[in-house]
Amino acid sequence: MRAYNFCAGPAALPTAVLEKAQAEMLDWQGKGLSIMEMSHRSADYVAVAEKAEADLRKLMNIPENYKVLFLQGGASLQFSAIPLNLLGKNNKADYIRTGIWSEKALKEAKRYGDINVVEAGIKTEDGKLAIADQSTWNLSDDAAYVHYADNETIGGLQFAHVPETDKPLVCDFSSSILSAPIDVSKFGLIYAGAQKNIGPAGLTLVIIREDLLDQSKPEIPSILKYADQAKNGSMVNTPSTYAWYLSGLVFEWLLEQGGVEAIHKVNLQKAELLYGYIDSSDFYANPIAKENRSIMNVPFTLANPELEKQFLQDAKENHLLNLAGHRSVGGMRASIYNAVPLEGVQALVNFMDDFAKRNA
Ligand SMILES: *Cc1c(COP(=O)(O)O)cnc(C)c1O
Repeated sequence: MRAYNFCAGPAALPTAVLEKAQAEMLDWQGKGLSIMEMSHRSADYVAVAEKAEADLRKLMNIPENYKVLFLQGGASLQFSAIPLNLLGKNNKADYIRTGIWSEKALKEAKRYGDINVVEAGIKTEDGKLAIADQSTWNLSDDAAYVHYADNETIGGLQFAHVPETDKPLVCDFSSSILSAPIDVSKFGLIYAGAQKNIGPAGLTLVIIREDLLDQSKPEIPSILKYADQAKNGSMVNTPSTYAWYLSGLVFEWLLEQGGVEAIHKVNLQKAELLYGYIDSSDFYANPIAKENRSIMNVPFTLANPELEKQFLQDAKENHLLNLAGHRSVGGMRASIYNAVPLEGVQALVNFMDDFAKRNA
């Protein structure tokens, strides 16, 4: 049986998608070979790649003046690719810090440009973590772009609003893309590693407004250069063909679910169920201020940390997997991405309640 998988990434994939991939594994659409064994330049593969892009454009309502790139190297390589692509004319950028991922992005960017760090993580009076109101941020007047991470996957902290700026807004959406509607036109660049809410590891999405394609630094490797990738359909070299295909199956599945608006409603139900239970219990606690709670990654602690090992072991026996928090912060974390169904969250809450009663 398939367990409920709360892994932060690589994360759960819809069972229907894995079944389709399994059915097509050895002989893709009667062609006598696996999609993995096909040239990325063959007409069959190019059609698969283009269909994935068209479906993503539909799901996210991506305007015509944006390019969609299917790249490799993970979101972490984008931490370098973004400054190399965008700081060629003006070497300054603002980076909003809210947690571990936005911190990693700005550390890497500092190797390439003049980075203004905007502190936005705060503690509320009752000791919860929150994102400071934009009026307190020290944004600069002359940045080439403003970078932030919509959802801090490790901390479980998410922006309640898109920041306001007249500069191109660059956002790491690795763990929240496709979980809720995004107005793409507000952004200069959106990027996301696939392995949280899109598909398997090995693929990184970049969605970039076309007018930003001409400001790269001269020393940029051509593989990282968005203008070259855009000109070549993300095939400057061999792309991650299987991950691209499988992500395309996820996009088809999402369209069948009714698209991003429909899955967002389910995601809100899941988050309300889990946070609601945690808030009602003295046994569990979540450290984030309500307005900035992530709807995808829910960290929680046990009143008695000595029970953590037992909690994880019992959860596993109940087919609830990967609930340990990130190694840097400890505690527990349930990642409830699109592919984790409401029943999975209900099963988790039932287990948590039972565990609390048994160990009170
Ligand atoms: C997982 C994650 C990353 C890193 O992704 P890789 O693809 O492993 O490089 C970056 N940012 C956020 C917000 C993430 O959740």
